[in-house]
Amino acid sequence: MFAVYCPEHDAEVLLSQRRVKRLVNVEPGVIAVELVCYDGQLLTVLTGARVTEASQAGAARDEAAA
Ligand SMILES: [Zn+2]
Repeated sequence: MFAVYCPEHDAEVLLSQRRVKRLVNVEPGVIAVELVCYDGQLLTVLTGARVTEASQAGAARDEAAA
């Protein structure tokens, strides 16, 4: 399961692996997981060994700006 903030829900939602659209290797140790929310929103979560909370927040900002 992935806990990810959805702007459409204005809350964190729990999405299962079945909601994963694709995985992108951003750089070594950093993987962007693209998930499709129940309302159709495309959400991105960064995961991997080198992801910090700061870069997680950055991804959320990028998603909001897109
Ligand atoms: Zn949603």
